[in-house]
Order: sequence, then C-alpha cells, then structure tokens
Amino acid sequence: DFRRAKYMLSAPDISFLPPDTGVEVAFAGRSNAGKSSALNTMTDQRGLAKTSKTPGRTQMINLFELAEDRRLVDLPGYGFAQVPLEMKKKWQHALAEYLEKRNCLKGLVVLMDCRHPLKDLDVNMIRWGVAAELPVLVLLTKADKLKQAVKQKTLRDVKASLEAMELDGDIKVQLFSSLKGTGRTEAIKTVTAWLEQ
Ligand code: GDP
Repeated sequence: DFRRAKYMLSAPDISFLPPDTGVEVAFAGRSNAGKSSALNTMTDQRGLAKTSKTPGRTQMINLFELAEDRRLVDLPGYGFAQVPLEMKKKWQHALAEYLEKRNCLKGLVVLMDCRHPLKDLDVNMIRWGVAAELPVLVLLTKADKLKQAVKQKTLRDVKASLEAMELDGDIKVQLFSSLKGTGRTEAIKTVTAWLEQ
C-alpha cells in the first residue's frame, strides 16, 4: 500500500544504501519535472518527498519503505544548470553505478514535464533503464497544464518518438497530474506490479 510509505534514509552514493535485497523502484527526472509532487501524490502524503527541496538532500538518493523489503527510490533531479560540472560528473557516476549494480532494482519511472518532453537527458535515462533491462514508465507530468486535445497529442507524439528510437524495451507512457490526480491509479498499478515480483 503506497499510503504506508515511510521515509527511510538519504544516501550520498550507493555504498550508503541498505542491503541489496527485496525490490526497489526508482524515480528519476529533470529537476522541477514534478518528481517530488508525484511521489507525494502516489503515496498520498503531502510532505513525503520534500517539494520544497531541502538543500543538501537534493543530490542524495532518498529511500522510502512501502513494506518490508519494498522500497521507492527518489533519485536526484538532473539537468539543473546551476550544478557545477564536477558535481554533475560525480552524480552521473553514482547514478550509472546504481542502475547497473543494484540487483533489487526492478523498475524505473522517468518523469518529464508534458510541455517539454524527451529532452536529451530524459532519453539518456530511458536508454539506461532499457540497457539495464528494467521496465520503464514514463510519466508526462503536470498534465493539467495542457488542454485535452493537446494532452492526447503529446501522449501520441511521445509514444511515436520512443517507438522511432527502437529502444526495444518495456516502455509505458502515460499522462500524470499531481494537482488533479490524473494517472495516479494507473501509475500505482504499474509500479505495484513491478514491486510484487
Ligand atoms: P521535482 O524537482 O521534480 O521534485 O519537482 P516538484 O515536485 O518540486 O515540482 C516542481 C514544480 O512544479 C512545483 O512548483 C510544483 O508545484 C509544480 N508541479 C508539480 N506537479 C504539478 C502538477 O501536477 N501540476 C501543476 N500544475 N504543477 C505541478
């Protein structure tokens, strides 16, 4: 039950993570994509993933426990212009390490603002997920910002672009709005299926 999610710990790199057992599902996205809001919406807990970015915690891997040995992992937001190159490199390394080496990682959620989908870093992230043989769920966030017709077109366009890339992985795409709750049930269903293996 997502409502039972509890903050566990923040890890500066993978050596600080709990033992590699059970199942984890990771959430990734550009900073400001709406990742914290989505985690809060999915768990129905306003303050779970701090939307008001606690400095220092933003570059960490934040873990939330749903049940024994079932965790949601909030990966640091990427694409933040103000972050020094040195930190970006360090983070990229940590991220790559996590995606490649974490055996209990069973699914990747990639969030992107539906008004600016599939930026290079987003595509990279999806490629990494596929390369690590993870099922990927793309959430097109802030769907409330678009009119119905535009929303549907965006969804179709993103699906078509991903298909054109021939990534050859298990990639789902859906609209999501934390503000309106759009797509909440659907996203929970997908992630729950991953967690139940
Ligand atoms: P993060 O950096 O990816 O964790 O993004 P946040 O969850 O902190 O959200 C970034 C900004 O987008 C904040 O100002 C949120 O209020 C806003 N936001 C997030 N989700 C939604 C949504 O579903 N609808 C709208 N309209 N705004 C949203």
